[in-house]
Amino acid sequence: FEKLMQLATERGYQIYLLGAKPEVVEALVKKLQKQYSQIKIVGYRDGYFGQNEEVIGDIKAARPDILCIAMGSPRQEKWIAGNLEKLRVPFAIGVGGSFDHVAGFSKRAPVWMQQAGLEWLYRFLKEPTRLWKRYLVGNLLFISLVIKQAMKKKP
Ligand code: UDP
Repeated sequence: FEKLMQLATERGYQIYLLGAKPEVVEALVKKLQKQYSQIKIVGYRDGYFGQNEEVIGDIKAARPDILCIAMGSPRQEKWIAGNLEKLRVPFAIGVGGSFDHVAGFSKRAPVWMQQAGLEWLYRFLKEPTRLWKRYLVGNLLFISLVIKQAMKKKP
């Protein structure tokens, strides 16, 4: 997400940020504008909304090139899948807890854990009751599906 914001600024892409709590997304916008004076944030909104149509109208009117959605997995992916056609945005991506991280509301794993591919473990240890299902059940299911698919492809 951070690299994407940098690249979008360099190339002049218009960005819309959707997700997280109101105070988080507001702090994020301020932080990004301070960090990248040329950044084009054409709209933002928190991820706790009732009326979907109103949000879609707001995004369409802002005409972003990039839509970043931080509403947690799999909610954000489902939201993109259900609304992308209506939005007419060329590029939409779910970015999970990135708004909270970049705005300074939550901490990332130590760099060595990020580099070792263990950020999931750090997050799991911090919030085991919320994340055990995602990481233990979800990951095993994912791996088994990958193996199943790989076996199928062999003649
Ligand atoms: N979030 C949201 N709307 C919701 C649920 C969650 O905007 O209905 C936000 C939440 O405030 C947080 C972000 O989604 O900023 C990521 O949440 P989570 O940590 O669950 O995502 P993950 O990175 O684990 O997929």
